[in-house]
Amino acid sequence: RGMQKFSTAAVLEEPITPPVQINYTKLLINGQFVDSASGKTFPTLDPRTGEVIAHVAEGDKEDINRAVSAARKAFDEGPWPKMSAYERSRIMLRFADLVEKNIKELAQLETWDNGKPYQQALTAELPMFVRLFHYYAGWADKIHGMTVPADGPHHVQTLHEPIGVAGQIIPWNFPLLMFAWKVGPALACGNTIVLKSAEQTPLTALYVAKLFHEAGLPEGVLNIVSGYGPTAGAALASHMDVDKIAFTGSTETGKIILELAAKSNLKPVTLELGGKSPFIICEDADIDRAVELAHFALFFNQGQCCCAGSRTFVHEKIHDEFIAKAKARALKRTVGDPFKKEIEQGPQIDSEQFQKVLGYIKSGIDSNATLECGGERFGSKGYFIQPTVFSNVKDNMLIAQDEIFGPVQSILKFKDIDEVIRRANATRYGLAAGVFTSNIDTANTMSRGLRAGTVWVNCFDVFDAGIPFGGYKMSGIGREKGAYSLNNYLQVKAVVSPLKNPAWL
Ligand code: NAD
Repeated sequence: RGMQKFSTAAVLEEPITPPVQINYTKLLINGQFVDSASGKTFPTLDPRTGEVIAHVAEGDKEDINRAVSAARKAFDEGPWPKMSAYERSRIMLRFADLVEKNIKELAQLETWDNGKPYQQALTAELPMFVRLFHYYAGWADKIHGMTVPADGPHHVQTLHEPIGVAGQIIPWNFPLLMFAWKVGPALACGNTIVLKSAEQTPLTALYVAKLFHEAGLPEGVLNIVSGYGPTAGAALASHMDVDKIAFTGSTETGKIILELAAKSNLKPVTLELGGKSPFIICEDADIDRAVELAHFALFFNQGQCCCAGSRTFVHEKIHDEFIAKAKARALKRTVGDPFKKEIEQGPQIDSEQFQKVLGYIKSGIDSNATLECGGERFGSKGYFIQPTVFSNVKDNMLIAQDEIFGPVQSILKFKDIDEVIRRANATRYGLAAGVFTSNIDTANTMSRGLRAGTVWVNCFDVFDAGIPFGGYKMSGIGREKGAYSLNNYLQVKAVVSPLKNPAWL
């Protein structure tokens, strides 16, 4: 330890200052940027240095009340739920165009506030954000009910109506994508929204919400309240006038949200929570490709993915070769200033996560997993962690059970397919799983046997707009993205009337 050389293109002494202005730091309520009722602000930090980027208005209960009133009025009095679905769709498309025009500024802001590689934000996440709004704009005028055959002489139809005011609470790991997953379907269905962004990353939600208003979104339809979870977030989840709550974040907080919803007005809840996803590499796999994919599955986004392939199961026949190559790959990973093009890995989001990840590394060492590489802080400031690989990991170790949410790969050995399916499923989570094999029977057996909301076969982290995403077990309730997500934001009304002259009689 300490002897290993990491590829460090990065000089952290002088972080690049992105050429983007921070114009929006207030709460966005009823189409206006306003100070918080208390006048309080909170700092949002640059994870590369821990320095303050900006002070942002800190929303609390009173601000949530104001935002919910605005959303309520916009829903009850219109025009949003009542305008033609085509018009809603056009506004969403105009918004997507504006995001495309501002793509560089938004990617810079996302990287600055979050620490993720700029190239990733610019070439993957922002284009996906635009794609998601195109996708949901396409749905807006294709949502409709059915006519239903009745036993008696009745005409029966169902209306698919918006549910009302949606409360949405999002995390910091993909601030813009989480915004799109939640706001896209809610608006396509004609709902109005109060969104609470994560306290670590409040900047881009305010920026895009401003663009939405420029695109013609009526006031009160989309309100953004920056602030903390136990204050602003809890006020939103327990508000009597919020008709639905959608949350992404930790399983612990998901339980609190469900309880707050139950104790207030029984609003329906969708939850997208944590994971401990297995990535299973079979003996017939091409080892070099498997190494690369398993590396990507875990280290992508600094390991801060709910679906990270955080248990790498490797067949015993290829196990030793795999470990040597996985270690070599991790040692080659470029860590440093995420604004530099050659950098694959930036800092963790904040000091709390940084400490938590280092704590898990210590627990891995203490429980006698073999530390192949990494294990320490990288550099002397900010929240960077060396890409870390553990082998000899056992199922009962904490690092094989808890969501680490950092750049820590845990490699476990297996013998046969039934055994690995059983072990892969022996977790409280069930968000995603990956299988790497050249045998179609193995792929089919695994896809059916693994209890997870997504199974990626010979790929990982493929996230098209139309592919549903969500968890089994304690990884969540409901599905986001794709057609399935629309149900989260719709009510079904049956309309029944007597039929005097049935056409078919
Ligand atoms: P968190 O669940 O506490 O925060 C997510 C969101 O919920 C934030 O907007 C936060 O302000 C809000 N929140 C927190 N407490 C709340 C409350 N009592 N009522 C209402 N809203 C509340 O997650 P975190 O503290 O940022 O991270 C902790 C762990 O959660 C991470 O280490 C990781 O394991 C996991 N996590 C998972 C995801 C995911 O995508 N599934 C995202 C972020 C974090």
